[in-house]
Amino acid sequence: MNRRQAPGSAQEVVDELERAQAHWTGIDTLLRRLITRLTYAAEGHAAALDRTLGRIRSRMRESSDEELIEQLLHELTEAVRCLDDAPVASKAPATPAPEAPTATADDARAVLLAVLDRLQPDEVLLAQLGTLRADIAAAAEPAALARQAEALAVAVNRHVRQLAEQRDAAETLLNHVTEQLLELTRYLSTENVEQREGSGSRQQLDQHLIKEIDALGTQMQQASDLRTLQAEVESRIGAISAHMKAFREREEARERDWQARAELMNKRIRELESAAHTMEASLSQTQQQASTDLLTGIANRMVYEQHIALVCDRVRDEAAESCLLVLDIDHFKQINDRFGHAAGDRALRIVSDQLKARLRADDLIARYGGEEFTVVLSATNGEAGLRVAETLRTCIETLSFRGQQQPVSITLSCGVTQLRPDDDPQRAFERADRALYQAKRSGRNRCAML
Ligand code: GH3
Ligand code: MG
Ligand code: MG
Repeated sequence: MNRRQAPGSAQEVVDELERAQAHWTGIDTLLRRLITRLTYAAEGHAAALDRTLGRIRSRMRESSDEELIEQLLHELTEAVRCLDDAPVASKAPATPAPEAPTATADDARAVLLAVLDRLQPDEVLLAQLGTLRADIAAAAEPAALARQAEALAVAVNRHVRQLAEQRDAAETLLNHVTEQLLELTRYLSTENVEQREGSGSRQQLDQHLIKEIDALGTQMQQASDLRTLQAEVESRIGAISAHMKAFREREEARERDWQARAELMNKRIRELESAAHTMEASLSQTQQQASTDLLTGIANRMVYEQHIALVCDRVRDEAAESCLLVLDIDHFKQINDRFGHAAGDRALRIVSDQLKARLRADDLIARYGGEEFTVVLSATNGEAGLRVAETLRTCIETLSFRGQQQPVSITLSCGVTQLRPDDDPQRAFERADRALYQAKRSGRNRCAML
């Protein structure tokens, strides 16, 4: 069935109740008019009775509650009883027309019975009206008929009030159901956004809800009376709430599980990050060690080889200017021989420190091997390169080095060459090395350029 029909069904119940209430209100008005006429017909027997009849008439014009009418009924009964107890002479009106009351009573009885016929009572009222019908049929006197008319009016009033209450209850129920369905729709649309992946738990809820809403719609259409409808609706809404509660609990449990897993993963990620940092530092240290000459702390031959290859490319591709210097300590073997190998090591460290201190950050100095160093000068032509080589040579020459408390003279020779566009690392080195050989052959402690 179509779920949207469900609230419409309840609306039909409310409409029906409103129609019934209008019907009963019409009857109530008729009865009031009838009672008013009967009070006129019953007048003239006794002053006390007339006063009561007058009050009944004025009460019938206003909207009166059941208690007041019952009270008037009681007064009327008392007034009639007094009438019965009074002497016949005083009870009789001054100039009564014997046929007139009888004719009025018959008319009134007929009208009352016609009103009864127009009623559509429910089971409870049916029994009550059955008794009333018998009493009206048996009532001979106008006063007795007035009492029955009162009783009929009270019954009708009570029934009208019950109908109004039933209508209010149906409206309340309808509002309740509408609110529940709206909340359900809102909840489901929120869930739709949040749970796009559609869990098994969600599908389970959907199935339960569809079943319950379908059943609710069927019950609302089939319900024959308000009480049954109310009970069914409450039961279905209770079931829907239970399914949703169970669903929320399952989702909360799932979320807790996810949170625990996410925390575990976060912890693991932090551990991995920490390990990665340690490894990075270790790798950086290893790289540093792999590229550093252990004795002197300057770059080793491997770094020089990589660097000179890049510089050759730059000179070829970008017309950059660069110079290569090859430096060799003169007669170093003698230093070892005279002062020992450790003194030779110390001399190597001092010489490399001094050379490095006189170069720019962009220049590279590396230990090529033994007592031989290479220097690559960036953005430097041959002329400037020769000047730098002289500076380096002079600084070592003037160095005051001591071995076994004696001053030791250390000098170096240097071969200089400016890199050419067609150079590769080997060709450039061979030219610089040839220049070094020239410097050595020319007497050492000097620089030569090729
Ligand atoms: P030349 O002026 O012709 O260059 O003479 P030289 O003695 O410097 O050249 P040679 O090649 O004959 O000797 C180089 C010496 O350098 C031999 C070797 O023992 C020494 N040497 C090489 N590496 C080290 C080192 O790491 N420490 C020390 N103490 N000596 C080294
Ligand atoms: Mg040497
Ligand atoms: Mg050498």
